[in-house]
Amino acid sequence: MRVEIIPCLKDNYSYLLIDDSNNTSCVIDPSEAFPIIEFLEKNKIKLSFILNTHHHYDHVGGNKKLKEMYGAKVVGYKDDKERIPEIDFTVKNNQIWKEKNFQAKIVHIPGHTSGHICFYFFNEKKIFSGDTLFSLGCGRIFEGTYAQMFNSLNFFKSLPHETNIYCGHEYTLKNSEFCLVHDSNNQNLKEKIRRIKDRLNRNLSTMPTTIKDEIECNIFLRSENLEKFSKLRDLKDNF
Ligand code: ZN
Ligand code: FE
Repeated sequence: MRVEIIPCLKDNYSYLLIDDSNNTSCVIDPSEAFPIIEFLEKNKIKLSFILNTHHHYDHVGGNKKLKEMYGAKVVGYKDDKERIPEIDFTVKNNQIWKEKNFQAKIVHIPGHTSGHICFYFFNEKKIFSGDTLFSLGCGRIFEGTYAQMFNSLNFFKSLPHETNIYCGHEYTLKNSEFCLVHDSNNQNLKEKIRRIKDRLNRNLSTMPTTIKDEIECNIFLRSENLEKFSKLRDLKDNF
């Protein structure tokens, strides 16, 4: 299985998880259909599933068109079935979702929205974190509480450190500036920033990041309690 990163809209990422053994794929959070279609057609890959981390427009905008074109099935969280367009299959917390050769654990990680989930492909050690965990940042709290977001972020710390994380947006550089202000002596962070800038200078995505990098460098994962986390989250909103 390999992941193809598809930049969409202004700073979104959609991802194709491709099974090369049979040329089938899943798309995670298709912001828009066109860039996905273009890649699939050019590479002669079939689209079987559309996996949505949450209902926001910039994560589901391509659902309808992709379903029409490929007959792909839409998978989303059970409590969001009224607001994820074209949903076919609902999933719940801690469920193992398995279709064809694809197998992911679903984890409910509320905070950004009440129904946010992530898709953890544990065999491949890849996780799609949507707008909950960003590289060097985390999502805004729109529908949940600070405690929910804090717990959701803590879940990521329990994963194997080499796990690759694929986030919903390219916010890494901007996030790094905030981390640096609040964690100015962190050498791992400084090294990570060097790598980020090098990638961006070469017009590459900063994805994937890893659990190890985020534990070492992400100020939100490094907050030792809810109070500190909440304060940082508020400061970040106005940064
Ligand atoms: Zn969102
Ligand atoms: Fe988003």
